[in-house]
Amino acid sequence: MIEILVTIIGLVIGSFLNVCIYRIPRKESIVFPSSHCPACGRQLTFFDLIPIVSYIFLLGRCRSCQAKISARYPLVELLTGIVFLFLYLKYGYSITFMFITIMMAVMIVVFFIDLDHLIIPDKLVIFASIIAGLMVVYNFFTPLAVYGDSSWWNPLLGALIGSGSLLLVALLGSVLFKTDEAMGGGDIKLMFPVGLVLGWRLTLLTLFLAIMIAGLYGLILLALKKTSRKSSIPFGPFIVLAFLIASIWGYQIIYWYLGVY
Ligand SMILES: [Zn+2]
Repeated sequence: MIEILVTIIGLVIGSFLNVCIYRIPRKESIVFPSSHCPACGRQLTFFDLIPIVSYIFLLGRCRSCQAKISARYPLVELLTGIVFLFLYLKYGYSITFMFITIMMAVMIVVFFIDLDHLIIPDKLVIFASIIAGLMVVYNFFTPLAVYGDSSWWNPLLGALIGSGSLLLVALLGSVLFKTDEAMGGGDIKLMFPVGLVLGWRLTLLTLFLAIMIAGLYGLILLALKKTSRKSSIPFGPFIVLAFLIASIWGYQIIYWYLGVY
C-alpha cells in the first residue's frame, strides 16, 4: 500500500521536476508563474497537472491551442515514480531513503538539463551538496548503513575520490592532449555531492559504471555511424545513470564482482 503511495508521490514530484528541467537552464523561477502551455501561454489547471493521466486524456495536446506536448513530460513523471518505488523497496521508510530520494530527484533534473544544454547548473550542485552535507552530519551521530561502515570520514573520502579522479582526468587531458574537453567542470562538481551521499565504495562503483556505460554508448553511436569521434557527448547523464544503479544495486554488484556472493 505504501508502495503505491510512494509511486504516486514520485509521479507528482516528477511533474515538478519537469518544470525544473525546463526553467532552470532558462534562468526562470521554478515557483512563479505557475505552469502554462509554452505555445499559447494558457495557464494549466489542476486537472492538466495530474501526472500521466492528463497527458493520456488530452492525447498529448494542449487543451486550447492543440500544440503537441512532448512525450518527455509523462516519461519524466513515470521515471521518477518508478525510481522512487525502487528506492523505497531498497531502503524502506528511513532517513537514508529521504536523503537519497531527494538526491535522486536532483540527479533526474541534471540528467535532462545536461542532455539538452550540455551544462550542469551550479544551483543544482549546491542544492545537492547541502542535502548531502546534512546526510554527512546525520551520519556523524548515527552511522548510516549505505556507507558500508561506520566511519565518519567515509562520505568525505567518497567526495574526494569522486571529484578528485574527474579533476585528474581533466588535468591530464589539458596537459597531455591539450584539450579542455576531457572532463567538464560540471561533472567534477557533481561528483562532490554524489561522493558524500554514496560514500567511497559506491562512489568508486559509480565512476566505474559511468565510464563503462559512456564507453558502450559511444561504441554504439560509432557502430551506427551517428557520430564522429569528435562530437561531444555530455558525461553528466552517465553519472546519473551510474548513481541510480549504484544507489539501488551497488553492494550487490560489488559483492558479485569480488566473488563473495
Ligand atoms: Zn497551448
